[in-house]
Amino acid sequence: MEPINDPNEPNEHNDASKLNEIADGTDKQPVVELKDVDLVYVTDREALLALTGMNLYVYSGELVSLVGPSGCGKTTLLSLIAGLINPSRGKVLVHGHKVNGPSPEVGYMLQQDYLFPWRTILSNATLGLELTNRLNKESCEMVIDLLEGMGLGNTTELYPHQLSGGMRQRVALVRTLATNPDLLLLDEPFSALDYQTKLQLEDLVVDTLRQRGKTGILVTHDLSEAIAVSDRVIVLAAKPGRIRTTYEVPANIRYAQPFYAREEAGFNELFHEIWRDLETLDGKEETSF
Ligand code: ADP
Ligand code: MG
Repeated sequence: MEPINDPNEPNEHNDASKLNEIADGTDKQPVVELKDVDLVYVTDREALLALTGMNLYVYSGELVSLVGPSGCGKTTLLSLIAGLINPSRGKVLVHGHKVNGPSPEVGYMLQQDYLFPWRTILSNATLGLELTNRLNKESCEMVIDLLEGMGLGNTTELYPHQLSGGMRQRVALVRTLATNPDLLLLDEPFSALDYQTKLQLEDLVVDTLRQRGKTGILVTHDLSEAIAVSDRVIVLAAKPGRIRTTYEVPANIRYAQPFYAREEAGFNELFHEIWRDLETLDGKEETSF
Protein backbone atom coordinates (compact mmCIF):
# COMPACT_ATOMS: atom_id res chain seq x y z
CA MET A 1 0.00 0.00 0.00
CA GLU A 2 1.24 3.45 -0.89
CA PRO A 3 1.14 6.53 1.34
CA ILE A 4 -0.82 9.45 -0.02
CA ASN A 5 0.61 12.81 -1.00
CA ASP A 6 -0.95 16.08 -0.03
CA PRO A 7 -1.52 18.24 -3.12
CA ASN A 8 -1.47 21.29 -0.83
CA GLU A 9 1.99 20.63 0.48
CA PRO A 10 3.31 23.88 1.95
CA ASN A 11 6.42 25.18 0.24
CA GLU A 12 7.57 27.89 2.61
CA HIS A 13 10.64 27.22 4.68
CA ASN A 14 10.07 26.74 8.32
CA ASP A 15 13.42 27.37 9.90
CA ALA A 16 11.86 28.57 13.14
CA SER A 17 11.13 25.03 14.18
CA LYS A 18 14.65 23.72 14.64
CA LEU A 19 13.58 21.55 17.50
CA ASN A 20 16.60 19.37 17.26
CA GLU A 21 19.44 21.86 17.09
CA ILE A 22 22.68 20.42 18.30
CA ALA A 23 23.85 21.74 21.61
CA ASP A 24 27.31 22.95 20.66
CA GLY A 25 25.80 25.79 18.66
CA THR A 26 28.05 25.29 15.61
CA ASP A 27 26.70 26.46 12.34
CA LYS A 28 26.82 23.13 10.52
CA GLN A 29 24.59 22.42 7.57
CA PRO A 30 21.92 19.85 8.23
CA VAL A 31 22.27 16.64 6.22
CA VAL A 32 18.65 15.69 6.92
CA GLU A 33 15.76 18.08 7.43
CA LEU A 34 12.18 17.13 8.10
CA LYS A 35 9.83 20.09 8.20
CA ASP A 36 6.32 19.61 9.52
CA VAL A 37 6.08 16.16 8.02
CA ASP A 38 2.93 14.04 8.20
CA LEU A 39 2.71 10.58 6.71
CA VAL A 40 -0.65 8.95 6.13
CA TYR A 41 -0.97 5.31 5.05
CA VAL A 42 -4.20 4.58 3.25
CA THR A 43 -5.64 1.08 3.02
CA ASP A 44 -8.99 0.07 1.56
CA ARG A 45 -10.37 0.14 5.10
CA GLU A 46 -8.69 3.07 6.81
CA ALA A 47 -6.30 5.99 6.70
CA LEU A 48 -3.61 5.78 9.33
CA LEU A 49 -1.70 8.83 10.46
CA ALA A 50 1.67 7.15 11.02
CA LEU A 51 3.70 10.33 11.63
CA THR A 52 2.60 13.85 12.42
CA GLY A 53 4.30 17.22 12.79
CA MET A 54 7.77 15.79 12.48
CA ASN A 55 10.54 18.38 12.66
CA LEU A 56 13.96 16.80 12.66
CA TYR A 57 17.41 18.12 11.82
CA VAL A 58 20.45 15.87 11.65
CA TYR A 59 23.81 17.50 11.12
CA SER A 60 26.91 16.32 9.31
CA GLY A 61 28.85 13.72 11.27
CA GLU A 62 26.11 13.20 13.85
CA LEU A 63 24.76 9.82 14.88
CA VAL A 64 21.20 10.08 16.08
CA SER A 65 19.16 7.23 17.54
CA LEU A 66 15.41 6.84 17.38
CA VAL A 67 13.67 4.88 20.11
CA GLY A 68 10.00 4.37 20.89
CA PRO A 69 7.26 1.76 21.07
CA SER A 70 6.81 -0.53 18.11
CA GLY A 71 4.50 1.02 15.55
CA CYS A 72 5.47 4.60 16.42
CA GLY A 73 6.80 5.18 12.92
CA LYS A 74 10.56 4.65 13.19
CA THR A 75 10.84 2.60 10.00
CA THR A 76 8.41 4.96 8.28
CA LEU A 77 10.69 7.86 9.16
CA LEU A 78 13.73 6.12 7.68
CA SER A 79 11.75 5.18 4.56
CA LEU A 80 10.85 8.85 4.07
CA ILE A 81 14.49 9.91 4.33
CA ALA A 82 15.53 7.07 2.00
CA GLY A 83 13.01 8.28 -0.56
CA LEU A 84 11.05 5.02 -0.54
CA ILE A 85 7.85 6.88 0.37
CA ASN A 86 6.78 10.51 0.07
CA PRO A 87 5.45 12.68 2.87
CA SER A 88 1.73 13.38 2.87
CA ARG A 89 2.49 16.89 4.13
CA GLY A 90 5.66 18.86 4.75
CA LYS A 91 9.16 18.44 3.37
CA VAL A 92 11.98 15.95 3.57
CA LEU A 93 15.37 17.30 2.49
CA VAL A 94 18.76 15.60 2.26
CA HIS A 95 21.69 17.98 1.75
CA GLY A 96 19.20 20.77 1.21
CA HIS A 97 17.46 19.01 -1.69
CA LYS A 98 13.97 17.62 -1.63
CA VAL A 99 14.12 13.83 -1.56
CA ASN A 100 12.84 12.37 -4.83
CA GLY A 101 13.29 8.64 -4.59
CA PRO A 102 16.29 6.58 -3.50
CA SER A 103 19.75 8.04 -4.05
CA PRO A 104 23.26 6.58 -3.80
CA GLU A 105 24.05 9.28 -1.23
CA VAL A 106 21.86 7.42 1.25
CA GLY A 107 22.62 3.90 2.45
CA TYR A 108 19.93 1.83 4.15
CA MET A 109 20.81 -1.14 6.34
CA LEU A 110 18.14 -3.40 7.77
CA GLN A 111 17.78 -5.87 10.61
CA GLN A 112 17.94 -8.74 8.17
CA ASP A 113 21.01 -8.85 6.02
CA TYR A 114 19.16 -9.69 2.77
CA LEU A 115 22.23 -11.29 1.27
CA PHE A 116 21.51 -13.38 -1.81
CA PRO A 117 22.26 -17.02 -1.00
CA TRP A 118 23.42 -17.83 -4.53
CA ARG A 119 25.98 -15.02 -4.64
CA THR A 120 29.41 -15.16 -3.05
CA ILE A 121 30.24 -12.75 -0.22
CA LEU A 122 32.22 -10.56 -2.61
CA SER A 123 29.45 -10.41 -5.21
CA ASN A 124 26.91 -9.68 -2.47
CA ALA A 125 29.12 -6.88 -1.18
CA THR A 126 29.51 -5.36 -4.65
CA LEU A 127 25.80 -5.56 -5.48
CA GLY A 128 25.10 -1.85 -4.86
CA LEU A 129 27.99 -0.87 -7.12
CA GLU A 130 26.77 -3.28 -9.78
CA LEU A 131 23.22 -1.89 -9.64
CA THR A 132 24.49 1.68 -9.99
CA ASN A 133 26.86 0.75 -12.83
CA ARG A 134 29.91 1.62 -10.80
CA LEU A 135 31.49 -1.80 -10.49
CA ASN A 136 34.99 -1.86 -11.94
CA LYS A 137 38.39 -3.21 -10.97
CA GLU A 138 39.13 -0.24 -8.74
CA SER A 139 35.80 -0.21 -6.89
CA CYS A 140 35.96 -3.99 -6.51
CA GLU A 141 39.38 -3.68 -4.86
CA MET A 142 37.97 -1.04 -2.54
CA VAL A 143 35.25 -3.50 -1.48
CA ILE A 144 37.86 -6.20 -0.89
CA ASP A 145 39.75 -3.72 1.32
CA LEU A 146 36.56 -2.95 3.22
CA LEU A 147 35.90 -6.66 3.74
CA GLU A 148 39.47 -7.12 4.96
CA GLY A 149 39.09 -4.17 7.30
CA MET A 150 36.11 -5.90 8.89
CA GLY A 151 37.89 -9.21 9.32
CA LEU A 152 36.15 -10.79 6.34
CA GLY A 153 39.13 -10.96 3.99
CA ASN A 154 39.06 -14.75 3.80
CA THR A 155 35.33 -15.00 3.10
CA THR A 156 35.14 -13.40 -0.34
CA GLU A 157 34.52 -16.66 -2.21
CA LEU A 158 32.23 -18.17 0.44
CA TYR A 159 28.42 -18.08 0.41
CA PRO A 160 26.20 -16.42 3.04
CA HIS A 161 25.11 -19.71 4.66
CA GLN A 162 28.76 -20.40 5.51
CA LEU A 163 28.95 -17.27 7.70
CA SER A 164 27.66 -16.48 11.20
CA GLY A 165 24.89 -13.91 11.71
CA GLY A 166 27.40 -11.30 12.89
CA MET A 167 29.62 -11.87 9.85
CA ARG A 168 26.65 -11.59 7.51
CA GLN A 169 25.65 -8.27 9.09
CA ARG A 170 29.23 -7.07 8.55
CA VAL A 171 28.93 -8.04 4.87
CA ALA A 172 25.66 -6.08 4.74
CA LEU A 173 27.50 -3.12 6.28
CA VAL A 174 30.25 -3.38 3.66
CA ARG A 175 27.62 -3.54 0.92
CA THR A 176 25.99 -0.40 2.35
CA LEU A 177 29.34 1.42 2.60
CA ALA A 178 30.57 0.24 -0.82
CA THR A 179 28.57 2.85 -2.72
CA ASN A 180 30.09 5.46 -0.39
CA PRO A 181 26.85 6.96 0.91
CA ASP A 182 27.15 10.06 3.00
CA LEU A 183 24.20 9.21 5.19
CA LEU A 184 23.52 5.80 6.72
CA LEU A 185 20.08 4.73 7.85
CA LEU A 186 20.29 1.75 10.18
CA ASP A 187 17.04 -0.01 11.06
CA GLU A 188 17.68 -2.26 14.06
CA PRO A 189 20.78 -3.71 12.41
CA PHE A 190 21.98 -5.50 15.55
CA SER A 191 18.76 -6.78 17.02
CA ALA A 192 18.98 -10.30 15.61
CA LEU A 193 22.49 -10.84 16.97
CA ASP A 194 23.70 -12.32 20.23
CA TYR A 195 24.78 -9.83 22.87
CA GLN A 196 28.54 -10.14 22.41
CA THR A 197 28.39 -9.88 18.62
CA LYS A 198 26.06 -6.93 18.94
CA LEU A 199 28.54 -5.05 21.17
CA GLN A 200 31.38 -5.77 18.76
CA LEU A 201 29.33 -4.57 15.80
CA GLU A 202 28.25 -1.40 17.62
CA ASP A 203 31.93 -0.53 18.09
CA LEU A 204 32.71 -1.35 14.47
CA VAL A 205 29.84 0.68 13.05
CA VAL A 206 30.51 3.72 15.22
CA ASP A 207 34.25 3.62 14.42
CA THR A 208 33.52 3.27 10.72
CA LEU A 209 31.04 6.14 10.67
CA ARG A 210 33.33 8.44 12.69
CA GLN A 211 36.47 7.64 10.69
CA ARG A 212 34.67 8.27 7.43
CA GLY A 213 32.84 11.34 8.65
CA LYS A 214 29.44 9.80 7.86
CA THR A 215 26.13 10.88 9.27
CA GLY A 216 23.90 8.17 10.73
CA ILE A 217 20.38 7.57 11.97
CA LEU A 218 19.96 4.41 14.01
CA VAL A 219 16.66 2.83 14.97
CA THR A 220 17.00 0.51 17.92
CA HIS A 221 14.92 -1.29 20.52
CA ASP A 222 17.86 -1.28 22.87
CA LEU A 223 17.99 1.89 24.95
CA SER A 224 21.50 1.26 26.28
CA GLU A 225 22.70 0.82 22.70
CA ALA A 226 21.05 4.09 21.69
CA ILE A 227 22.82 5.99 24.47
CA ALA A 228 26.15 4.23 23.97
CA VAL A 229 26.43 4.91 20.24
CA SER A 230 24.79 8.26 19.62
CA ASP A 231 25.12 12.00 19.95
CA ARG A 232 21.38 12.39 20.50
CA VAL A 233 18.58 10.03 21.43
CA ILE A 234 15.14 10.92 20.13
CA VAL A 235 12.13 9.36 21.83
CA LEU A 236 9.09 8.97 19.62
CA ALA A 237 5.53 8.59 20.86
CA ALA A 238 2.95 6.47 19.03
CA LYS A 239 -0.56 6.95 17.67
CA PRO A 240 0.20 9.15 15.89
CA GLY A 241 3.97 8.88 15.68
CA ARG A 242 5.69 12.09 16.75
CA ILE A 243 8.79 13.33 18.50
CA ARG A 244 8.32 13.34 22.24
CA THR A 245 11.72 14.24 23.70
CA THR A 246 15.25 14.76 22.43
CA TYR A 247 18.14 13.91 24.74
CA GLU A 248 21.71 15.10 24.22
CA VAL A 249 24.21 12.46 25.18
CA PRO A 250 26.96 13.99 27.39
CA ALA A 251 30.40 14.27 25.75
CA ASN A 252 32.12 11.72 28.00
CA ILE A 253 29.64 9.05 26.93
CA ARG A 254 29.62 10.17 23.30
CA TYR A 255 33.35 9.98 22.87
CA ALA A 256 33.82 6.68 24.66
CA GLN A 257 33.72 3.54 22.52
CA PRO A 258 30.19 2.08 22.79
CA PHE A 259 31.47 -0.89 24.77
CA TYR A 260 32.96 1.37 27.45
CA ALA A 261 30.34 4.12 27.20
CA ARG A 262 28.04 2.00 29.34
CA GLU A 263 30.47 2.39 32.25
CA GLU A 264 30.82 6.16 31.94
CA ALA A 265 29.60 8.56 34.63
CA GLY A 266 26.04 9.67 33.96
CA PHE A 267 25.16 6.71 31.73
CA ASN A 268 22.81 5.06 34.21
CA GLU A 269 21.13 8.33 35.13
CA LEU A 270 20.42 9.10 31.48
CA PHE A 271 19.23 5.54 30.91
CA HIS A 272 16.73 5.82 33.77
CA GLU A 273 15.57 9.25 32.69
CA ILE A 274 14.79 8.06 29.16
CA TRP A 275 13.37 4.78 30.47
CA ARG A 276 10.87 6.68 32.62
CA ASP A 277 9.95 8.75 29.58
CA LEU A 278 9.33 5.58 27.57
CA GLU A 279 7.33 4.00 30.38
CA THR A 280 4.82 6.81 30.36
CA LEU A 281 4.22 6.47 26.62
CA ASP A 282 1.04 5.02 25.21
CA GLY A 283 1.50 1.50 23.94
CA LYS A 284 4.44 0.81 26.22
CA GLU A 285 3.28 -2.79 26.55
CA GLU A 286 4.26 -3.28 22.92
CA THR A 287 7.89 -2.31 23.50
CA SER A 288 10.67 -4.71 24.16
CA PHE A 289 12.81 -2.31 26.15
P1 ADP B 1 8.03 1.11 13.83
O1 ADP B 1 9.17 0.93 12.87
O2 ADP B 1 8.26 2.20 14.83
O3 ADP B 1 7.67 -0.16 14.53
P2 ADP B 1 6.45 1.57 11.45
O4 ADP B 1 7.03 2.77 10.81
O5 ADP B 1 6.80 0.25 10.85
O6 ADP B 1 6.75 1.58 13.02
O7 ADP B 1 4.85 1.69 11.43
C1 ADP B 1 4.16 2.82 11.91
C2 ADP B 1 2.67 2.57 11.77
O8 ADP B 1 2.34 2.54 10.39
C3 ADP B 1 2.22 1.23 12.35
O9 ADP B 1 0.93 1.41 12.89
C4 ADP B 1 2.18 0.33 11.14
O10 ADP B 1 1.22 -0.68 11.31
C5 ADP B 1 1.77 1.29 10.05
N1 ADP B 1 2.33 0.93 8.74
C6 ADP B 1 3.65 0.78 8.43
N2 ADP B 1 3.81 0.47 7.14
C7 ADP B 1 2.57 0.43 6.60
C8 ADP B 1 2.07 0.18 5.29
N3 ADP B 1 2.87 -0.06 4.26
N4 ADP B 1 0.71 0.22 5.13
C9 ADP B 1 -0.12 0.50 6.17
N5 ADP B 1 0.28 0.76 7.42
C10 ADP B 1 1.62 0.73 7.63
MG1 MG C 1 10.39 -0.72 12.43
